[in-house]
Amino acid sequence: MSVKKIVVKEPVLKKGEHYLTSDYKTRDTRSSHNGMDMIGKNKSIDDVIAISDGIVITSTYSSSAGYYVEIQHENNYISRYLHLKKGSLKVKKGDKITKGTILGTMGNTGNSNGAHLHFAIYNAKRTPLDPLPYLLGDKNFSTNQDNTFQEFVKNIQNSLGAKVDGIPGPETLKKTITISAKVNRKHKVVKYLQEYLNYLGYSSIGTPDGIAGPKFTKAIKEYQKDHNCVVDGVITKQNKTWKNLLKLL
Ligand SMILES: [Zn+2]
Repeated sequence: MSVKKIVVKEPVLKKGEHYLTSDYKTRDTRSSHNGMDMIGKNKSIDDVIAISDGIVITSTYSSSAGYYVEIQHENNYISRYLHLKKGSLKVKKGDKITKGTILGTMGNTGNSNGAHLHFAIYNAKRTPLDPLPYLLGDKNFSTNQDNTFQEFVKNIQNSLGAKVDGIPGPETLKKTITISAKVNRKHKVVKYLQEYLNYLGYSSIGTPDGIAGPKFTKAIKEYQKDHNCVVDGVITKQNKTWKNLLKLL
């Protein structure tokens, strides 16, 4: 079992240390794996906490999920926490809870092969979503965030001469160019990147001035580190940084 550390902004494990043992389906060999499996440092057990405020809609046992909790959030997003330890559930159906509330303890109940947390996020239609951007804080359950992302995408598309619809896709990605302190350092997109990274919390990028300087490089490197890209401070199609920024992974 290979274990990969993920640096999260919105923890679901109390100690804040998250080690991935099995990834979400689009990055995993198991195409049906609807969530992310996690464990603590050195395979340690930890308490499981709510990623965000919400209402407990399920706190029960099933043969596949084991002891598990479901929380309904803003805009009917749902987070699910599976395989919790028997007797550890701390919340019950109908409880109004806040971000960080302890739900139970990581366990090995249900269809589980060793103690871990299976964490999943679903939209209002109960379609599973990639949990990673929610853990990284790049997405949340409020619509304002989506508007900010859409604005960012529109500005990028406009600056790159791509079709402006606010929905990134292969066509947008194809139009992207390399941005760094050496290449295209004063390109129109630099300012939008600065604004957006600031918004995502990479404040080391400083006040947006449209010029990719040392602060820009530093912030991009931080972003790349958090998102498992090659850490080189250069935004390219090839090193996955554009893909991450446009949420095309
Ligand atoms: Zn799982």
